[in-house]
Amino acid sequence: MAKVKLQNIARKFGNVTAIENITLEIPNGEFWVLVGPSGCGKSTILRAIAGLESITEGEIYIGNTLVNHIPARQRDVAMVFQNYALYPHLTVAENLAFGLRMRREAKAEINQKVQTVARSLNIEHLLKRKPKQLSGGQQQRVALGRAIARVPQVFLLDEPLSNLDAQLRDDTRTELKQLHHQVGITTIYVTHDQTEAMTLADRIVVLKDGNIQQIGNPQTIYAQPANRMVATFLGNPPMNILPVTYLNGSFVINNQFLPINSEIEQRLHPIQGQNFDLGIRPEDIQLATSELNQKGYYTITVEINIVEPLGREILVKSKLLDTNINLDFLVAADWQGKQGDRVTVQLDLKRLFIFDVSSGKTLF
Ligand code: ATP
Repeated sequence: MAKVKLQNIARKFGNVTAIENITLEIPNGEFWVLVGPSGCGKSTILRAIAGLESITEGEIYIGNTLVNHIPARQRDVAMVFQNYALYPHLTVAENLAFGLRMRREAKAEINQKVQTVARSLNIEHLLKRKPKQLSGGQQQRVALGRAIARVPQVFLLDEPLSNLDAQLRDDTRTELKQLHHQVGITTIYVTHDQTEAMTLADRIVVLKDGNIQQIGNPQTIYAQPANRMVATFLGNPPMNILPVTYLNGSFVINNQFLPINSEIEQRLHPIQGQNFDLGIRPEDIQLATSELNQKGYYTITVEINIVEPLGREILVKSKLLDTNINLDFLVAADWQGKQGDRVTVQLDLKRLFIFDVSSGKTLF
């Protein structure tokens, strides 16, 4: 096991900048997730650590060793891709043993390691089968097993669950987390799926356009996003963003004045006519009731567009009256509202975010 350190790394492909300037240090034994939209550079970072991709600038350390010029197979990392890449002519047991055989470990030791890995991944009953006799989920477990059997210093996973169906993805995700608890290998996991990032990570690295937007544990990133991109990327359903203008001590949206409190005013120092983006998560909006203390809320009337039952609750997609401004919120599963209804909702003032319109930076 080893820590992984990236120091100002960059990778250009001709005039395409895949990664611009990445610096981070992953402590020994932690599970980090790189997350971001398609094309943000996640896979390039992972492949650079594995030695499958060269970098144009910067330094990569595994443990205390500078590995920039060390070939992939000498870096002692194991990588798992989304398309399992098992050897089709070998059995599951032989696939699991492959890396160990290459290292010329003793036969008895190999057998014992294969059994241990197979047990921890629940694939003992499949050891004699060939890959084509396995389901996608089973194949992916074998691929994970093959990678961990040789106990690499670093475990690299590139969207390993994306080819699995929803149920299997959830199950395998849980197994992966358990596996990490058991073996504690430094793990770097790439995904564009924010649920995977939130559930698996000790720390999440949010990327956009080849740059780091924020690094933090899942709870902190969710509660204190550094900017609008992070705020809207993490969270399902995503955060609402409402364009507002500051006028006479209020945010104005759609001719409606939402008075701002002195704390927001002091922190923002707004000037007349200044535009902001106001962010609020769907779970921080509720249907207005007379019992609630109106003071702690903004009250807004919306027209319902779509009602999506999610089982435990209902996602309501609405628009601010006579506008195209979307506002999504969650209500109890037994709510009876329907498309076209007008309802008044309350935005919890304690849960508001204010973003700078052009930079997207979180101001409040
Ligand atoms: P995805 O989630 O879609 O896999 P990603 O975040 O992993 O995306 P990368 O695969 O790292 O993104 O690619 C980052 C950028 O670099 C993209 O714009 C991509 O088109 C570009 N890129 C990656 N590999 C190459 C290459 N070999 N040649 C040219 N451009 C490349």
